[in-house]
Amino acid sequence: MKLIFLGPPGAGKGTQADKVCGYHGIAHISTGEMLRGEIREGTELGMEAKDYIEKGELVPDEVIIGMVEHRIHAQDCAKGFLLDGFPRTVAQADAFQHISDIDMVINIDVPAARLIDRIGGRRMCSGCGVGYHTSTYAGNTCERCGAKLFIRDDDKPETVKNRILVYERLTQPLIAYYEKMGKLQTVNGDETPAEVTADILALTEKLV
Ligand code: ADP
Ligand code: ZN
Repeated sequence: MKLIFLGPPGAGKGTQADKVCGYHGIAHISTGEMLRGEIREGTELGMEAKDYIEKGELVPDEVIIGMVEHRIHAQDCAKGFLLDGFPRTVAQADAFQHISDIDMVINIDVPAARLIDRIGGRRMCSGCGVGYHTSTYAGNTCERCGAKLFIRDDDKPETVKNRILVYERLTQPLIAYYEKMGKLQTVNGDETPAEVTADILALTEKLV
């Protein structure tokens, strides 16, 4: 099963991806998470990506495409994968057409006005990278590994505004792109996380 999640920053892609991948036994590929890992490890790729991410800009297509092409051939992708945060531009989507096929693209739709609030409450574990939200978890440490939670640099209000603009300008056109291809499904992302998961699984069940 090969899936793509589309949706603005703050739509809940990461949270939903964890659930859906756990359910279907497919690999969760988050390009944002991969890039943050490269930065933590201080790799050349990480050094290159850091400035873009901190400004809320996109990392250049060539860098991302190479990274994803390599990743989908890993052992844990044997049963399939879910791409979260990729493709983010038409150029990335075009390139991916030459790399792999795709079964379904799920657009998680959330009104723009809700995004700033959602991202404002976002917290991340410094140990294992898992995400939390202040509306559903009041602690300061991770429930899984006990490490401290922090606010991602690019979740600060100045950067968030730019990320939403970049989304609208460069990523939103992919909705029409995959619609034309007959691959697009849309779920309402402005429900409880459990309701969104149920809506997504109702769609992906048909692929099994
Ligand atoms: P969100 O979905 O909340 O915007 P991500 O964790 O997916 O956050 O991405 C964080 C940042 O990583 C993006 O703002 C961008 O700079 C970079 N990034 C992630 N995926 C891509 C991609 N496919 N193409 C270009 N840049 C990317
Ligand atoms: Zn943790």
